[in-house]
Amino acid sequence: MQTFQSPETAGEPDETESAGKTGEAESAGKTGNAIPPLSPGLYIVATPIGNLGDLSPRAARVLAGVSLIAAEDSRVTAKLLHHIGARVPMLAYHDHSDERVRQTLVARALQAPVALVSDAGTPLISDPGYKLVRDARAAGVNIVTIPGPCAAVAALTLAGLPTDRFLFAGFLPAKAAARATAIAELAAIRATLVLYESGPRLGASLAALATGLGDRPAAVAREISKRFEETVTGSLSELAARYAEAPPRGEIVITIAPPAPPAAADGATLDAALAMAMAGASLKSAVAEVTAALGLPRAAVYARALELRDGVAD
Ligand code: SAM
Repeated sequence: MQTFQSPETAGEPDETESAGKTGEAESAGKTGNAIPPLSPGLYIVATPIGNLGDLSPRAARVLAGVSLIAAEDSRVTAKLLHHIGARVPMLAYHDHSDERVRQTLVARALQAPVALVSDAGTPLISDPGYKLVRDARAAGVNIVTIPGPCAAVAALTLAGLPTDRFLFAGFLPAKAAARATAIAELAAIRATLVLYESGPRLGASLAALATGLGDRPAAVAREISKRFEETVTGSLSELAARYAEAPPRGEIVITIAPPAPPAAADGATLDAALAMAMAGASLKSAVAEVTAALGLPRAAVYARALELRDGVAD
């Protein structure tokens, strides 16, 4: 087991005692003192998801102070560097980059400060970086995170859904069969679900989610922190209908309420509905019909249908 305390933060008072890193940078600017050089290490730097004003002063200071930036797309990061008036060498990095690129970055981070950024938001979150952090940690590199924007967390703050437990599931698969399987795996999870999605696929994904999860409350947050930001709430089927004909532009996060806990009386209702549906249709169709009708998780309905079919129900 390895534990690192960043030399950058070691011995530093916490936010209740001082302005922390941000204050350090600001006071350095006010007094004209030079900002102390960064220690060697890998700096994971979160960048804005739309509004450049969301780049933290600490993130700007670190980006300007590293010797090298590992970037998902150097053209995107060049604009950010231009915004803060910094010129720093960059190296393209993806988790599928050649092993040698990763080794180069790890070796450099042992000697000098190196930053990792993605095109937007927090690196590693549906973005490259996990393998680099894994290998850097194994090599004993000092790893420092510079927290900041993340679309998943921002969407949770907008949706009005429970946030005490949530599951971030990234992007659903593009193909319908794989998507249905992925959704079935999520159905029984008792937490708010957070998914990334693109405009063209939004309507189909919402419809598949309504079928697979039941018609739960949900929210579609689009273009967060940008000019055309909007959050639309409704049931999954309402949202699916809204976006079926008019796929929206821009970047999207879907949040979905946890499954409603089945009430005691629901057992009898479920059994009666399944018995009726299974009398006239295949098990699969009956499950789909009852899931949609009762708004229960498909996985729970399917499990009960199997029990009834196999005569193992109490
Ligand atoms: N690492 C990023 C983060 O911390 O949020 C996410 C990168 S992932 C490749 C990009 C996806 O994040 C987009 O397709 C979209 O689903 C979501 N996203 C990014 N920016 C967004 C924004 N401003 N509004 C809504 N969703 C956004």
